[in-house]
Amino acid sequence: MNFSDFTAFVRQTFHDDNGFIILHDPRFIGNERKYLLDAMDSNFVSSVGEYVTKFETAIAEYTGSKYAVAAMNGTAALHIAMLLAGVKQNEEVITQPVSFIATSNAITYIGAKPVYVDVDKETMGLSPEKLESFLKENAVKHADGCSYNNKTGRRFAAVVPMHTFGHPCLIEDIAEICERYNIPLVEDAAESIGSLYKGKHTGLFGKTAALSFNGNKVITTGGGGMILTQDEKLAKLAKHITTTAKVPHRWEYNHDYTAYNYRLTNLSAALGLGQIENCEKFVLIKRELVEKYKEFFAKTDVKFFTEPKDCRSNYWLNAIILKDREERDKFLTYTNDNGVMTRPIWVLNNKLDMYKGCQCGDLTNSQWLEDRVVNIPSSVIIDNYYENIKQGKYN
Ligand SMILES: *Cc1c(COP(=O)(O)O)cnc(C)c1O
Repeated sequence: MNFSDFTAFVRQTFHDDNGFIILHDPRFIGNERKYLLDAMDSNFVSSVGEYVTKFETAIAEYTGSKYAVAAMNGTAALHIAMLLAGVKQNEEVITQPVSFIATSNAITYIGAKPVYVDVDKETMGLSPEKLESFLKENAVKHADGCSYNNKTGRRFAAVVPMHTFGHPCLIEDIAEICERYNIPLVEDAAESIGSLYKGKHTGLFGKTAALSFNGNKVITTGGGGMILTQDEKLAKLAKHITTTAKVPHRWEYNHDYTAYNYRLTNLSAALGLGQIENCEKFVLIKRELVEKYKEFFAKTDVKFFTEPKDCRSNYWLNAIILKDREERDKFLTYTNDNGVMTRPIWVLNNKLDMYKGCQCGDLTNSQWLEDRVVNIPSSVIIDNYYENIKQGKYN
């Protein structure tokens, strides 16, 4: 591929002749201002106020989740999601090394240990095949019905797959394996709002899940997250421990749990409500961009990553697969020198200082991806939004 053809194509597509085109910036084209001002005028800007509940309801409706509980960011939501699934100190959590660092960090907050299992090349998410073979070799069921690591004696307290760049992993197969081994499933769905697996929204396949609304995600609250669950008791507990676990009373300060104060503010929720109202449009426009990228890369020797079978991906961050690490580095240098932001996929979490000692399965696919995958600009193109309105596409 001729790199300057690529940067020229990105400039033309994003209608930007000379600015720095970043990976993913937010768009505020709906009721965000109105709701924010309303929240300020109401004087409820902090942890009490109607926008938190409204935002939670809107997320539940959009995803089809029975319950949605807001948190101050996606990492906090994932921390709570794992606590709700029953993860405790000195237990082990199986996850993928291909992820943003928050996944491993949230496991560690509990005092649990990450165990890394490989991903599939076709989804970039946790591989059911690799998970099965890892458990076959390493798991033993004890009298309590739970699976334990036969090397360390610790319980496998959860499996946490991640839907990489918004592409759903093979979540049904993973759920089936978790069921058989009696290991709770917690989805890190931080990147996958709007992404469906066989028509069902990601985050609805396990015991709990976490979404993120960081500034670079498909929709944002500035900083924010959401815990999803289908279990009423867990939803109530989530609300209880993301606040101060206060026992209801007119004036007494009684608390019955060391809670986390992970609440989302009413201001953030007001912003989020304005955003979620446009989420489906954002996904649609992002998928229009995908068609353009497909056409462009079809004429090159570079593979453009497309959504896995049976999935509707939000294509949060578009990704390409380069020939090898050398070509990857040349591409990163050229594009970032020429005003088009690109980023490599994350360094495998198991290679980072904090997680070097963790147990790993065979990570051939993860390493292959680390050497080749690069994210390219993926923001919602606002001109296309107004063009679509003119053409009546949202009617
Ligand atoms: C964004 C993200 C999170 C949560 O991030 P916050 O910035 O805390 O909202 C967690 N896991 C993954 C994989 C993410 O991409």
